[in-house]
Amino acid sequence: MSIEVRSPADGSVVGVVTDQRPDEVTEAVARLREHQTSWEDAGFPERARWLRRYRDWLLDNEDDLARILQSETGKPWAEATMEVPYAADVINYYSKHGERFLTDETPRAHGPMTLTKRQRAVHRPYPVVGVITPWNFPVALSLMDAIPALLAGAAVVVKPSEFTPLATSAALAGWAEIGAPQVLTCLTGAGETGAALVDAVDYVQFTGSTRTGTAIARRAADRLIPCGLELGGKDPMLVLSDADLDRAANAAVWGGICNSGQMCTSVERIYVEAPVYEDFVNRVVTQVRELRQGSDSPDGFRYDVGALANQAQADIVRRHVDEAIEAGAKALVGGKPAGTGTFFEPTVLVDVDHSMACMREETFGPTLPIMKVADADEAVRLANDTPYGLSATVFTRDVEHGERIARRLEAGAVNVNDVFTNLFALPLPMAGWKQSGMGARNGGAHGVRKYCRTQAIVSSRVTPKAEPMWYPYRPLRGRLLRRLTRFVMARDLRRRLGLR
Ligand code: ADP
Repeated sequence: MSIEVRSPADGSVVGVVTDQRPDEVTEAVARLREHQTSWEDAGFPERARWLRRYRDWLLDNEDDLARILQSETGKPWAEATMEVPYAADVINYYSKHGERFLTDETPRAHGPMTLTKRQRAVHRPYPVVGVITPWNFPVALSLMDAIPALLAGAAVVVKPSEFTPLATSAALAGWAEIGAPQVLTCLTGAGETGAALVDAVDYVQFTGSTRTGTAIARRAADRLIPCGLELGGKDPMLVLSDADLDRAANAAVWGGICNSGQMCTSVERIYVEAPVYEDFVNRVVTQVRELRQGSDSPDGFRYDVGALANQAQADIVRRHVDEAIEAGAKALVGGKPAGTGTFFEPTVLVDVDHSMACMREETFGPTLPIMKVADADEAVRLANDTPYGLSATVFTRDVEHGERIARRLEAGAVNVNDVFTNLFALPLPMAGWKQSGMGARNGGAHGVRKYCRTQAIVSSRVTPKAEPMWYPYRPLRGRLLRRLTRFVMARDLRRRLGLR
């Protein structure tokens, strides 16, 4: 069986991949398992060497990968070329610091029982990690999780979205092309293939919808394997009256419309303090009017906004906009599908409120619904009025105030006077709160250690024939031991001496 991959820009078939059956998934994972042991044994420097070579291959083949990625996603060239550099950054960061992150920990004895022991906490990888990814960033989202898992010593299988499997397959083919050990592979297929992967691997890292993430977490729970989930969002932007309105408007437009709004961290709704509302809206509208939408060519840089990834996504965006307008909202720019394929006009909506899907559900489209609020307190209350909690942005000239506001927002990340920058801050965790996820990626040491099981190794440095606690139990030794332990554990003299 095979899957036809279509260009969202014009519906043409741009490639065909195999729809891999569950038994093929099981076999592929079994093969990875065989190669994983020597990959783990090879040690970090050797693994990092392969990853650095792979980075070079990715950079050498960036144009080809971007072309394939563009054909299946409909992204403008500027956005199709953002993914490989991101992966290169992840490789550089973890190959530089990963060895330190994975070093054994040797804590000192905390009490008498371990005084003569050597204690080690050793980070050993989950043998096979499954990475299941969506269609919005096929290369970046596959590699950003695969890279730290590989460096941790795991073997990795990536299952890209059935809508965009071509660029991921091409990128992972590079691993074989450089002759690296067979510990990284790509399996193509849809939900059934993904489910079979959850049934076969030792850890699942998933990026995608909250609905599918929940199904994966259930399935992982049945097998008692851990999973990391990075799910949907409804990220708010708060614009306070002292904000630099030019920067805020620029950030709103790029943050909401980049990748046609199909980013889990897209600006999905905006709250503006009343005194600057009109001014801010005017600036946003002027900018959105100037956006160029269309089918970009490789090396084109002619368009700012491409198509939506598929028809189902286009239908959601249309429903959110139509329902809002029916309920009294106004589209100051855009508001309808554009041209052929799945293009949707960049859209600014005003007179919106929290009864509308465009303010409550994840739109994942090029829409900017903007609401006027009385003050920062109302903005915070509305920003938190959502089941999601991925990230948020606050604009104010008073950075300290912005950070205080950040601490009141229920979101895994807050960017003050910026959008998306936390995604590039690899030492910080990227975690969705509430319905936006479980666990975190990145976050310095956490980024690689999450793919490890921590093993405790305790070795006796002093080895008499037997320890005082061991058999046989005798009255004299038993009483002495009781007195001794009490003396050590108690924290006041009366109890240390066993007085009542
Ligand atoms: P979408 O945003 O298209 O709804 P999903 O969250 O459903 O995306 O899908 C993201 C990824 O999860 C895709 O690779 C898809 O094939 C995969 N997938 C879908 N259903 C399941 C499932 N039940 N188990 C595992 N993977 C799944």
